[in-house]
Amino acid sequence: MQDRFTGNFTQQEPIPEAAIEAAVAVLRSGRLHRYNLVPGEAGEVALLEQEFAAKLGAKYCLAVASGGYALGAALRACGVGPGDRVLTNAFTLAPVPGAIAALGAEPVLVGVTPGLVIDLDDLARKIDASGARCLLLSHMRGHLADMRALMALCDAAGVTVIEDCAHTMGASWDGVPSGRFGRFGCFSTQTYKHLNSGEGGLLISDDAEAFARAVILSGSYMLYGSHLAAPGPEVFERVKYTTPNVSGRMDHLRAAILRPQLADLQRQCDRWNERYRVVEEVLRGTPGLTVIERPPAEAFVGSSIQALLPGWRAEDVQAVLARCAARGVELKWFGAPEPAGFTSTYASWRYAEFPPMPESDAVLAGLIDMRLPLTFSLEDCAQIGAIIRAEVSAVYQRQAAE
Ligand SMILES: *Cc1c(COP(=O)(O)O)cnc(C)c1O
Repeated sequence: MQDRFTGNFTQQEPIPEAAIEAAVAVLRSGRLHRYNLVPGEAGEVALLEQEFAAKLGAKYCLAVASGGYALGAALRACGVGPGDRVLTNAFTLAPVPGAIAALGAEPVLVGVTPGLVIDLDDLARKIDASGARCLLLSHMRGHLADMRALMALCDAAGVTVIEDCAHTMGASWDGVPSGRFGRFGCFSTQTYKHLNSGEGGLLISDDAEAFARAVILSGSYMLYGSHLAAPGPEVFERVKYTTPNVSGRMDHLRAAILRPQLADLQRQCDRWNERYRVVEEVLRGTPGLTVIERPPAEAFVGSSIQALLPGWRAEDVQAVLARCAARGVELKWFGAPEPAGFTSTYASWRYAEFPPMPESDAVLAGLIDMRLPLTFSLEDCAQIGAIIRAEVSAVYQRQAAE
């Protein structure tokens, strides 16, 4: 086995030829704006919405400019406004608390378990203590909490759930697709997620009135009649005068790129999981490292993999990162004192104030994370796993010898 891995952790696969052809046809038409249609034409955006809604079993779907935009529109469509408190995960990515802050609302963080999901006991406590009426639930890195228990808790407390499914497109809990538990499910089609249109987002819902608000918010003007996965005009009549236009539409070019990828989503998810299982298998049993056991009810998409170095000193985790990096393996670390690249923790979201969360801090301090792009072969994944295993073992033995 090679000493050094030479692949690129941010290299995605090329856009499929069918998607390129569809994109070129849109460019040739000159009609890129979603509402620029000729008589009888549905348009790529409305078709994408219809296909995505059907795939997820949702009544309604709206395509927007980004995943972060989808989160903000969902929050606003659910009535969140300035000064409101919104519960969300302590372990998530910066656009999640950012979407709350953008509305002038206040994020209230809920702790993370060693299984990397939201801590339901802490959620119950924070619902009581904060009086918040909305949970923006982030299925961070594709880990799904016990969604039946979570929904029972939130339903009983009158808390509206909005799901951030940026890492769970194609995943499900107990047979129910991620995004189908809350009032809204929000997805990203940014390059590093499960469909790639550069930037983009999708929102699904069964709630006619909240969904109509999201459509008007996204910048539909009074052209919502051309949507194919939306409620009837009578619902829009009820909300159109009281909902502002906060433009964040998707265009036909991106939708054209996404539709062929959506048709192939299941196969891609299976390929991610093959890669995930190879790395997981090699890592399992590494001294000093804990793999994250996935619950049987969770059908996940292994587009990234996480592991814990529980109780490790920061300098030892840093030594592992440095040794892996020297062998071409890029690990992210959620215990780092400073935000780096896409990775940050709540300690650096200083526009809001958070009480200390020592149990979550202990989890994050040992949390390492790695992307698994589909450009990696199964042999690549075995090599990467072996490198991590060797370097974790070496540092662990050095610690033990001290
Ligand atoms: C990427 C991401 C988002 C936001 O998606 P964008 O399309 O980049 O705005 C939201 N939540 C999580 C967990 C993400 O990883």
